Amino acid sequence: MGGGFEQELLFDLPEDTDPSGSTVVWNPWHGCKRYSEGCRNCYVYRIDGMHGKDASKISKTKSYSLPMQKTRGGKYRIPYGSLVYLCFSSDFFLEQADPWRPGIWEMIRIRRDLRFFLITKRIKRAAGLLPSYWDEIKSRIEICCTMEDQNAVNARFSAYSEFPAHSRTIVCEPLIGKINFSTLDGISKVIVGGESGPEARVCSYSWVMDIRRQCQEAGIAFYFKQTGARFEKDGKVYNIPRSIQHEQARKAGIDIKLAMSN
Ligand code: SF4
Repeated sequence: MGGGFEQELLFDLPEDTDPSGSTVVWNPWHGCKRYSEGCRNCYVYRIDGMHGKDASKISKTKSYSLPMQKTRGGKYRIPYGSLVYLCFSSDFFLEQADPWRPGIWEMIRIRRDLRFFLITKRIKRAAGLLPSYWDEIKSRIEICCTMEDQNAVNARFSAYSEFPAHSRTIVCEPLIGKINFSTLDGISKVIVGGESGPEARVCSYSWVMDIRRQCQEAGIAFYFKQTGARFEKDGKVYNIPRSIQHEQARKAGIDIKLAMSN
């Protein structure tokens, strides 16, 4: 896996990341299969394509056992207490990775000092793939679910609301259409962002604000992470450079932070 991935991913870390703390990206396998509309301009495909690689070929990486790896001095390579961003160049619940996932659960179980964060579109598979000791480890793993448009909400929301998570965060990114959640029961936060890259689809401020309203009415947290590369407001589409997409979202000043949110 090339350094470009880490660069892009670290740029995209959630807002509650402590910049002074240790954060690590752990990609135990690489490559993915497109799954829904949100995958059309997947950055894994885009960056692999730039290096002449085929992102649909899925393989275990040299980082598979990273949490267990030690330095010559005998210390873990992932420092004590780190926050680990898991599987950001694939989808954790990808079918092709089924033989490799039990080993991941074991490493998470052993490294009790670490917290983990992952985002999946394949939440409908997730509940059937948890280890027998899930209750022992679940408070240290935040599993977020992507819902990029209404079709994704219709297909994934009920599975996610029933998923036995410690807390639930919906990620509407890339947001590519208006979304109406008929309920947000059981959800603690919604994160919204536009699409990046040269083929980015337009994200509309009105869609963002509509999701914000639904979060406000439900009494849950809301985070506008970034505008994406093409952002529409009041009928005008703006091309926004990557370097200021997060900053522009911050300037909107529309986040909802709740004392009890994760
Ligand atoms: S699920 Fe994620 S990693 Fe996989 S193709 Fe879709 S966007 Fe890319």
